[in-house]
Amino acid sequence: MKRILIVPILLVLLVSCATTGPGGKKSLILIPTETEVELGKDVVKEVESTERVLNNQEVQNYVSKVGRKVAKVCDRKDVTYSFKVLDNEEINAFACPGGFIYIYKGLMKQMDNEAQLAAVLAHEVGHVVARHSIKRLQAIYGYSIVMEVALGEKMGQTARQMVDAAAGVILLGYGRENEYESDEYGILYAKKAGYNPKGMVQVFEKFKQMEGRRPSTFEKLLMSHPPASDRINNGNKEIQKIGGTNLPYYETEYAAIKAKL
Ligand SMILES: [Zn+2]
Repeated sequence: MKRILIVPILLVLLVSCATTGPGGKKSLILIPTETEVELGKDVVKEVESTERVLNNQEVQNYVSKVGRKVAKVCDRKDVTYSFKVLDNEEINAFACPGGFIYIYKGLMKQMDNEAQLAAVLAHEVGHVVARHSIKRLQAIYGYSIVMEVALGEKMGQTARQMVDAAAGVILLGYGRENEYESDEYGILYAKKAGYNPKGMVQVFEKFKQMEGRRPSTFEKLLMSHPPASDRINNGNKEIQKIGGTNLPYYETEYAAIKAKL
């Protein structure tokens, strides 16, 4: 009878309740941060073998600077966030597990101030804070992950399967609920970093205009992403709660950078 207890005890020891959002919000996380970062690095390899990183250090530095500002005020500090621009006209951005965030040149061209860029990057940081990709993977591999960790197997077969699954999760998006959650976190982080949180709503308004003309490719999906009009409404409600509409948008430097894309 006692032996049956071993697995639950292991679970209690290994599984921790991690902070996954503002206000001390916690979730049950089975995959330790080190594993998540390893997984993220593998996904990064895949991304950078198929996509070209924009060859302009000034633009890269600028985006990193804005990204670091929002990452600094976020609720998750156990990963190092990185921000890279991809040389692609697609209107897209995404976050890999472990804090590796990408934005496409095409999306940057659609925006017209730094507050909008900060909002998009903060939305992606929100996915990392909430560990959306990890939660999705846990739902698929939960038990085997715990057993692998328990047995001390590093990057076993399950982990390798996870890399493929992780890439799939990112490309398909995280589903509506997770998107709303990231919008909410992103609005808060952008404001905390000193940007007018309306920047997020401005980006959705652009998506709304595009919806009629071309498929929305932000995070590469139309199906599981909420309609832009709902994101606008939710965003405005969130901004009413937290304020910050007196904060600046920072247009001048953004325009100079945009001219180099
Ligand atoms: Zn998203």
